[in-house]
Amino acid sequence: MSVLVFVEHDNGIVKKSGYEALAYAQDLATANNTTVTAVIINPKNADLNALGNSGANKVVAVNGSNLDHFTPGSYSHVLNTVAHEDGATFAVVSGTYNGKAVAPRLAVKMGAGLVSGVVGLPESDLSVKKTAFSNKAFAKVKLRSDKKIFCIVPNSYEVKNFGIQAEIVQKSIEDAPSPSKVTNVNKTTGKIVLTEAELVVSGGRGMKGPENWGMIEELADILGAATACSKPVSDMDWRPHSEHVGQTGITIKPNLYIAIGISGAIQHLAGVSSSKVICVINKDPEAPFFKAADYGIVGDAFEVLPKLIAKAKSLKSA
Ligand SMILES: Cc1cc2nc3c(=O)[nH]c(=O)nc-3n(C[C@H](O)[C@H](O)[C@H](O)COP(=O)(O)OP(=O)(O)OC[C@H]3O[C@@H](n4cnc5c(N)ncnc54)[C@H](O)[C@@H]3O)c2cc1C
Repeated sequence: MSVLVFVEHDNGIVKKSGYEALAYAQDLATANNTTVTAVIINPKNADLNALGNSGANKVVAVNGSNLDHFTPGSYSHVLNTVAHEDGATFAVVSGTYNGKAVAPRLAVKMGAGLVSGVVGLPESDLSVKKTAFSNKAFAKVKLRSDKKIFCIVPNSYEVKNFGIQAEIVQKSIEDAPSPSKVTNVNKTTGKIVLTEAELVVSGGRGMKGPENWGMIEELADILGAATACSKPVSDMDWRPHSEHVGQTGITIKPNLYIAIGISGAIQHLAGVSSSKVICVINKDPEAPFFKAADYGIVGDAFEVLPKLIAKAKSLKSA
């Protein structure tokens, strides 16, 4: 009756979303008098003992052919294999790109019900709160299936220290079946990962064109922030799609979100409204984003940004 948790990592470095899923899994396990089995696939040099501290009672580190790169088919096969051996009745997956691809496949393989968009621990009757209507409402869902999978919204659960000494198990699974095959991986390097960033500087159509993004990047560099953008900006290829935040893009929850030349459409807000502090720069005082902002600057981005950059530079050098 254990709680299985899929721990995502990047080249051996466990992602923040992985630690969040571990904390959620341990709290779920404690409430149900059971333990957490963390599965980490192709872990490279990941610190497996640290996973105990973050919530795992047992860590299953899986290696094997077909596991060098993430594919939803092979990874859900591995998770299901461990879930079966472990007798898991619950599984916890973070709602990252990979997590969202794995969770439904794992649900089919385990014969489990799945709730996505989960933002809280289940109550005593195992009903659970989830987002609905693009984060504008919440729903409470109770799964009727015996096995249950909770796919939690990244940044919705705090990372915790449990100080558990985890049992480490090395496992080999060869030829995990997958209908897809990764032939090439192009990674962005040296950039702060948007989903993990504490500070985000974001630009919209008000920035007029890709040639003006130097200012956004410069401010982000000085602050140690990630860069993001609105959907039309990535649709027009001014910025890569990996930076698109919102209902159809990435959901983020940084400590500070600076939105420049973005109107604040509900579809955009759906991905950023959980930010701790929102600062909006827009030349239109009626821009809807100001209603969601903690701080607002009514002004032309092309006048405000150079001043902001100069101030940030001088503060940093001081
Ligand atoms: C099904 C669906 C899903 C969608 N999903 C998303 C999503 O995930 N993410 C998303 O972002 N959008 C999404 N959209 C699009 C969304 O509705 C808006 O069209 C979009 O967010 C607007 O982008 P924008 O604010 O960059 O551009 P605009 O709406 O054109 O706004 C530009 C803003 O810049 C301001 N501005 C102009 N010039 C300056 C200047 N010099 N200085 C300062 N301010 C200036 C303007 O006052 C304006 O407020 C979706 C739409 C649909 C229908």
